[in-house]
Amino acid sequence: MNRATDPKSIIGDDAPTPPHLDVRALEATTGVLTIDLDAIAENWSRLESRAVPAECAAVVKADAYGCGLPQVTRKLAAAGCKTFFVATLEEAKHAREAAPSAAIYVLDGFFANCGDVFAKFDVRPVIGDLSELAEWDAYRRTSGWKGSAAIHVDTGMNRLGLGINDARGLVPRIQKGDHGITLVMSHLVSAENVHASSNARQAAAFREIASLFSGVPASLANSSGIFLGSQFQFDMVRPGAALYGVNPTPEADTPVRPVVNLKVRVAQIRKIEKGETVGYGGIWTARRPTRLAVVTAGYADGYFRAASGIDGTRSAEAIVAGQRCPIAGRISMDLTAIDITDLPPGAVRRGHFVTLIGDGIGVDELAHHFGTIGYEVLTSLGKRFIRAYRGEA
Ligand SMILES: *Cc1c(COP(=O)(O)O)cnc(C)c1O
Repeated sequence: MNRATDPKSIIGDDAPTPPHLDVRALEATTGVLTIDLDAIAENWSRLESRAVPAECAAVVKADAYGCGLPQVTRKLAAAGCKTFFVATLEEAKHAREAAPSAAIYVLDGFFANCGDVFAKFDVRPVIGDLSELAEWDAYRRTSGWKGSAAIHVDTGMNRLGLGINDARGLVPRIQKGDHGITLVMSHLVSAENVHASSNARQAAAFREIASLFSGVPASLANSSGIFLGSQFQFDMVRPGAALYGVNPTPEADTPVRPVVNLKVRVAQIRKIEKGETVGYGGIWTARRPTRLAVVTAGYADGYFRAASGIDGTRSAEAIVAGQRCPIAGRISMDLTAIDITDLPPGAVRRGHFVTLIGDGIGVDELAHHFGTIGYEVLTSLGKRFIRAYRGEA
């Protein structure tokens, strides 16, 4: 097979076939999602040097934003990351397997009757409610477990977290010592918008709480928060999206490297006449004799329907034979048509791979066409594709 059609040439010879697929599945695959773990580790180092002397943790919830929780956690633990955040207890179990000695926080918090699981995997709930705190305390009292927890204080998000007054009420307990609280944290509402007045307001409210919780490390900033300046960094920062290549500073050039590359296959090349339409609804009309490459990804693969090519609008683009080409017509569940009329005849054939993400098309660019954010692009991607990892630890 030649380079354009052989999945192995994308994955690399040394990369093992993913264990859940046999060799024939590899050769027949309709898409290859490559995740560059070296880029993730480098992004973590860049964020860490931005935040130093604050500790740089890593948020690996939602399968590390779709990039693979075990692989990312192993890689970042090897790179020196000591604290991980996940959303659920199930994710915490996988993070514990990948990072045996790290501190692991569970953002969704503590639920009654789950204490044994927290204890078994030695993971820490992020507690945001007084009755939740009481349940956790009760478990510690009856079990004798000496586990730790974070206290989440709400400073404006109105999602999870203790109110400011409830947090103040915990100060006597903090002063007594032996309280099990190893982190006090809050979360920014609009960190990616440097002009948002909520940023300074939340930082001030959190600064008061952090100083009252003396001796307890404090954490406010997500990826974008790191770039709001040192007064947002406190003792620990909690980046997620920026690790995976989403630009945390949307109004400026990205400070992080791209991580994800998605290549899918050409299932068919076809020629249509001027005036014919393409796909469901006939929303795209050929204005000239047109050549199309129909490729093997659609909205079921996270290639959102909102990026469809509609007459008179700018659609998303794919890279075919090294050139950007626009989407033509409605993106359907499994298939998408690309207008390749401007390519030299024969430049691309059935079975070749084309690039939907990577090689200059970033997740932020696609998110713009999808009408969403890079986070949702990543977490929606490619459950049917082979995954290949670069730089596994
Ligand atoms: C998801 C999450 C983060 C990470 O945010 P990014 O914007 O992806 O960097 C940090 N803190 C909390 C509480 C979160 O829920």
